[in-house]
Amino acid sequence: MNAPTEAELSTRRSELLAVLHHQREAFRGDMSPSRPIRADRLNRLDRLLETHADRFADLIQKDFGVRSRTETVIAEVMLSRAAIRHAGKRLRAWMKPRRAPTSLAFWPGRSLVLRQPLGVIGIISPWNYTLQLAVGPLTDALAAGNRVMIKPSELTPLFSEAFRAAVAEFFAPEEVAVVTGDAGTGKEFSALPFDHLVFTGSTAVGRIVAEAAAKNLTPVTLELGGKSPAIIDASCDLSSVCDRLAWGKLINAGQTCIAPDYALVPRTQVEAFAQALQSSIRKLFPSFQGNPDYTSIISERHLERLRDLVTEAKTLGARVIEPEPPQDLPAGARQMAPILLIGVNDQMRVMREEIFGPILPIVPYDALDDAIDYVNRRDRPLALYWFGADRANRDAVLAKTISGGVSINDTLAHFAQHDLPFGGVGASGQGHYHGEYGFLRFSKEKPVFVQSRFSGASLIYPPYKPSLGALLRVLARFT
Ligand code: NAD
Repeated sequence: MNAPTEAELSTRRSELLAVLHHQREAFRGDMSPSRPIRADRLNRLDRLLETHADRFADLIQKDFGVRSRTETVIAEVMLSRAAIRHAGKRLRAWMKPRRAPTSLAFWPGRSLVLRQPLGVIGIISPWNYTLQLAVGPLTDALAAGNRVMIKPSELTPLFSEAFRAAVAEFFAPEEVAVVTGDAGTGKEFSALPFDHLVFTGSTAVGRIVAEAAAKNLTPVTLELGGKSPAIIDASCDLSSVCDRLAWGKLINAGQTCIAPDYALVPRTQVEAFAQALQSSIRKLFPSFQGNPDYTSIISERHLERLRDLVTEAKTLGARVIEPEPPQDLPAGARQMAPILLIGVNDQMRVMREEIFGPILPIVPYDALDDAIDYVNRRDRPLALYWFGADRANRDAVLAKTISGGVSINDTLAHFAQHDLPFGGVGASGQGHYHGEYGFLRFSKEKPVFVQSRFSGASLIYPPYKPSLGALLRVLARFT
């Protein structure tokens, strides 16, 4: 496909700007939508998902080649609808102004914090959980009373187009609008002067998006990726750990932003761990090719990248373990069987890039502090997993590492907690959302001071008299 001409780009830009202006106008007409209005928007979003869930699952399946229908139902539809209901039930409490303590010197004035919608929120979403990562931020933005424009991924074209049409069926364009298109459209989209922009995708594109948003001083929430470690403690029971680790790694064939990227394992347990993990993988997925529970790699290009990572690691000395004997994939099939790697090092791309596929390098460590150092010498991860029974070690890992989120003795589970903030830190992202944290992310918390009729403030107005000194000394003790 040819790159768009300057004239085409300019038309696209004007179309996007027109939608934004339309939404902004509508927002100005109702800058503090009432609770029933917000609840109605959330209900419509829920009905949209209820109405189209089956079709969406079919289309996502086609976009991927094979996408486990159960995974789509659990990780996309159920999770999204649960978040919508969670927000709907709590709107009244979240919208309430908060009383704040007032400094003594200003009594009997009052302080409060209003939670006000920001205006128009832009959302750019990726392909890996194409529905959930569009609907999740949309839910929080609507709960907070905003208008929303969404640019979903071009790598799930069937779903993205159906989602655009479904949104147009349930929402007026000045409430929510979906704009489909490729990276070029994404570029135009991220240059719009939104009141807030949420980007979910790769760290590399996140940098570009943040730069584009900075030109408008548009605040951003960046939900990025990275290498999330799983630390296996010497105190852990391998048989119970490996099922959980294999599930978290292989759901969506490893194409999950918070999938464990690599495992840090006590050196003496590496072989036992690799054995136990292979058993778990075979139990969860008795086969890969043709298995409807095992998702395909999204595209030939992504599959090629993953194969290259393995080939390079092998060439540089890594041992490749395949839980199932290797088979040639039929043309067009992209269900890549899982691969464990032992003997990896930092020269290998597999240890420098986010893997985002069913490859798990196993990195040995001697003392716990070595494992902690290994994590801390790298970019801050989006997620960190710790498996074990030793509380002191667990607390040391929690205190000495910084990551977007943590699950202890499980994988992925922290993402599904509506009352926990979700988001990265450093290279894995900035800002967080979900539940009330998302509501606040898309609100202006506006501080308001209400002066009393009986204020003594005029005592400190000019002209300043010498007697003011004594009053200021008293005030200084109480402020
Ligand atoms: P991507 O960065 O390639 O694309 C994401 C979105 O950005 C797409 O809609 C794309 O069209 C758009 N885009 C591409 N180039 C752009 C540009 N120059 N300007 C503006 N928009 C542009 O990411 P992807 O391949 O779709 O998703 C995989 C990545 O997303 C992984 O790194 C993964 O870790 C990350 N991810 C993060 C989270 C999270 O919540 N932190 C969730 C899912 C995925």
